[in-house]
Amino acid sequence: MIDVHCHLDDSSFEADLEDVIHDAKAKGVEKFVVSALVDVGVERAFEIALTHSCVKLSVGAQPQSVTEENYSELLLNIEEALKRHPVVALGEVGLDRGREGGDITLQKKLLRECVRLADSKKLPLIVHSRGAGREAIELLLDEKPEIPIDMHAFDGRVSTAYEASRKGVMFSIPPSIVRSDQKKALIKRLPLNSIMLESDSPALGPQPGTRNVPSNLLATLKVIAQEKNATMQEVAESAYKNSLSFFLGRL
Ligand SMILES: [Zn+2]
Repeated sequence: MIDVHCHLDDSSFEADLEDVIHDAKAKGVEKFVVSALVDVGVERAFEIALTHSCVKLSVGAQPQSVTEENYSELLLNIEEALKRHPVVALGEVGLDRGREGGDITLQKKLLRECVRLADSKKLPLIVHSRGAGREAIELLLDEKPEIPIDMHAFDGRVSTAYEASRKGVMFSIPPSIVRSDQKKALIKRLPLNSIMLESDSPALGPQPGTRNVPSNLLATLKVIAQEKNATMQEVAESAYKNSLSFFLGRL
């Protein structure tokens, strides 16, 4: 398995990162794409990637942190971080209409710039879209990028996701699927060739409020297999193959 989106640079992993990685590997997770966020700070993520060959990096910013004041700096910091070794995708970037609020017009402006940046660098794009799934997908498809797009932990309508999947958009599914009817309905409708696995660790675990870890990809796999009437092996192989092609051979 490949965990296409996680935050192993989070402080909750500081004490036992080696155990967390070791345990995930023992359960079949081979690679981890850590999302380095310029609004949070990317140094820890780069440090982990440089000392672990199984850890790859994507670089982005949380959409809800964008303000008039930091807009140019965020974009510049993303561009700078992309120049560093070894970045395999741009993201997460996106739209967030969650509780924190934030300026959606600015978020859209930044997302458009990031789509163009990713396209110019031939980097796949990992997209966050809390409460704004349809808006994000419309903006992305409007830009007509040639790079692959992954909607991470998509919380929007199943019909929107299905239409997007027919246009080549991928969906990575987190372990919170075990307690989410929306995510179960989502994977029921999506073809296996549109589905990848992510943990989004330490968030979106099987139990709310408990630290999520990449080994929980197994829990996701189990639910997808049940809902799709497939074996776990079939789902794992399909998601693995999808992930390798999504990252354009960079993993
Ligand atoms: Zn995330």
